[in-house]
Amino acid sequence: MILTVTMNPSVDTRYQLDELIIDDVNRVTPEKTAGGKGLNVARVLGQLGDDVVATGLLGGHMGAYMAELMDANGIKNDFVPIKGETRICLNILHAGNQTELLESGPTIAPEELDAFTAKFAELASKADVVTISGSLPRGVEADYYAKITGIAENAGAKVLLDTSGASLEAALKSEVKPELVKPNLTEINGLLGTSFTTDDVDELRSALASDARFSDIPWVIVSMGAAGSVGFHNGRAFRAKTPDIPAVNATGSGDSTIAGFAHAIAAGADDETVLRTANTCGKLNAMDPMTGHLVMDRWDEVYNGVVVTEL
Ligand code: ADP
Repeated sequence: MILTVTMNPSVDTRYQLDELIIDDVNRVTPEKTAGGKGLNVARVLGQLGDDVVATGLLGGHMGAYMAELMDANGIKNDFVPIKGETRICLNILHAGNQTELLESGPTIAPEELDAFTAKFAELASKADVVTISGSLPRGVEADYYAKITGIAENAGAKVLLDTSGASLEAALKSEVKPELVKPNLTEINGLLGTSFTTDDVDELRSALASDARFSDIPWVIVSMGAAGSVGFHNGRAFRAKTPDIPAVNATGSGDSTIAGFAHAIAAGADDETVLRTANTCGKLNAMDPMTGHLVMDRWDEVYNGVVVTEL
């Protein structure tokens, strides 16, 4: 089983408009989905045919609605109830633009977090792979992902951690390390204090090799959007490039990549297959207008078109 964690989920509402008229009425038809990075991972894993359970925190009427949306999507879910109301995020697509209004979400009480930690430990003990995605909700310390990574890894699961900033730094410093981290280029530049571009693969490789924070993490992936990714696994370095097919919506490509890693790592695949699978998922998501959804009927074309080279 693969467990996905979404600590600050949202009911995502998308409006498609020809034009957004400011200071006047805009009539819209909403499209609502169970949102949050971990839920994108869960949806894609469902498409890949994996046995997935989604967990996290849900509260209030929006939380109940969110559970209904997950059920309707066929996502097995086991969330911990909280008092605060699950947030709503608005995404307005208009004339080629994307305007987003993101609520920050509820503050988590200490006893609610304790309940989640207990639920997580129970679920992680049954999982082969655990994915932890996104930022932490208010009221939760930056080292919380490091803490639950330790719980899952000690129970024998492999943890794929997709976060940034202070919570990623805490995980890099902790005693028990995740199996995989996947900062994108902006996030790794923030962490290293560098300004590498997609052309600076050699420099990036040297910077990561000489940084002790990454030395005990089996898989370090730096994703680079349309330029593919660079991956390091147990001393080997790889460059992956995706085929040149136009993208329509790359939102959720990082989450889809995490789903691909979880799928292939859970299956015990070799390094090249792991990277090929992950980059195929990122690309197939970018080719689909829906966020966290792959154009599965083009799997073979993209999978065979991904080029993985050892550096
Ligand atoms: P994040 O969403 O975390 O910032 P990226 O944008 O780096 O992650 O995307 C993750 C992966 O998805 C990339 O490594 C690549 O394989 C694929 N991908 C993302 N955007 C595109 C795109 N526009 N065209 C092709 N592949 C893409």
